Amino acid sequence: MPSTRLANLIDGRLAAPLDDHWLDVYEPATGAVFAQCPDSSAADVAAAVYAAQRAAPGWAATPADTRAQLLHRLADLIEARLDEFAALESRDSGKPVSLARRLDIPRAVSNLRFFAAAIVAWESEAHAMETGAINYTLRHPLGVVGCISPWNLPLYLFTWKIAPALASGNAVIAKPSEITPCTAALLGELSIEAGFPPGVLNIVQGRGPATGQAIVEHPAVKAISFTGSTRTGASIAATAAPQFKKLSLELGGKNPAIVFADAELSDENLDTIVRSGFANQGEICLCGSRLLVQRSIYDSFRERYLAKVNALRVGDPQQASSDLGALVSREHFDKVMRCIAQARDEGGRILCGGNALQLEGRCADGWFIAPTVIEGLSNDTLTNQQEIFGPVVTLIAFDDEADALAIANGTGYGLAASLWTGDLSRAHRMGAQLEFGIVWINCWLLRDLRTPFGGSKQSGVGREGGVEALRFFTEPRNVCIRYL
Ligand code: NAD
Repeated sequence: MPSTRLANLIDGRLAAPLDDHWLDVYEPATGAVFAQCPDSSAADVAAAVYAAQRAAPGWAATPADTRAQLLHRLADLIEARLDEFAALESRDSGKPVSLARRLDIPRAVSNLRFFAAAIVAWESEAHAMETGAINYTLRHPLGVVGCISPWNLPLYLFTWKIAPALASGNAVIAKPSEITPCTAALLGELSIEAGFPPGVLNIVQGRGPATGQAIVEHPAVKAISFTGSTRTGASIAATAAPQFKKLSLELGGKNPAIVFADAELSDENLDTIVRSGFANQGEICLCGSRLLVQRSIYDSFRERYLAKVNALRVGDPQQASSDLGALVSREHFDKVMRCIAQARDEGGRILCGGNALQLEGRCADGWFIAPTVIEGLSNDTLTNQQEIFGPVVTLIAFDDEADALAIANGTGYGLAASLWTGDLSRAHRMGAQLEFGIVWINCWLLRDLRTPFGGSKQSGVGREGGVEALRFFTEPRNVCIRYL
């Protein structure tokens, strides 16, 4: 019997699901159930929306300063329990605890603090007309909004949505992934301690097609901010469109990392290139899973790259020495293994990895895969077109800039690209021509929270981050006054 039962947060109180249905929550490193999370129904969602509807007018009328103070208080409470949050995130998702401690939880704190600061500094526009009139823009919160997040960066992406939604004065119905529900549940408890008015933040746990669908369908929910797979994004868009809901969709990717012969391939840069493929077991939407290398340096690069990949330590996520942990679920582990088998069938040569790993001791039944590098596949193979979302990178040689651009842009996705070059003109030329929402040059995952974040093509619709998120969660109204 699992020791922990998580709760929903509805109307400022922790609550069990009305139907008393529960989902098992697994520890990926051991394959064992360690908690249960509510399998909430449409009735739970309706109760949350009712609470949010009652709370929304008061929250919208609360001064931005006060809203910001509450977000800062929540950030303080999470920061004070950084180790506990990091351990829980690692246990729930399989990611190394060192990564959760260094990246996920501090970033969740930053998200809350960033939008707390952003809302008090936010300005509205004014447009003066020479003919004697002035326009100014009012931005009202939307009312009740839905925030639905995935399992790969659980608290990081959960807070990326709820922070701007709350800061701009909306009441929120939030749903973390049912695969990694734990840290959001703990945040819910702390939001009570922080003093948020009841109903302003509601967290309804459960499965996508039931709980998530009920949030998207509910007529009182005015907007949905969703991060997850392209397939789910399409289904959410189809459900939301007839009700004309505002939508922000942050979806999948098949990102290129492009290395030119003129790049400075210091040890540090090479480590970043390796990290860009394998951080969080490759389960980051921004990971570069297609590594394009200029033909003139291909062989020497491959040798140095493989030496570094082979040195990555896959192990118990709780151990500080582990670079990679377990894949998030049995289902996802099976999917990634199928993708590796498909790459073999397509004629790919496995240069390293390609197999599951059987660890010893408490991790004997965990879902581990060796970091895998594959070459010999053209860009139009399924392996190079479909998102794998695991520790799998393909190497592709290219001749020149035009070739690199054609391969990099030759995908249905458009989330992120990274480019390694010592030629500044090339960097600008390629930066302008790569069809991705984010282009990193001589770096990867360097994030400034003020910048627009999101993808094009099948990687999504809309942008989050900075004022883009505040704009999304508000409705602009232009007021035009004639004075002549
Ligand atoms: P997913 O689409 O299966 O689930 C994401 C969330 O949506 C979960 O909370 C899930 O319960 C919910 N959901 C599922 N079906 C739903 C429905 N019909 N209605 C409403 N909600 C529903 O994605 P996942 O497997 O959790 O996450 C991995 C995917 O997320 C990958 O494709 C990855 O690229 C993508 N991702 C994108 C970004 C980005 O910023 N673009 C960031 C992280 C992850």
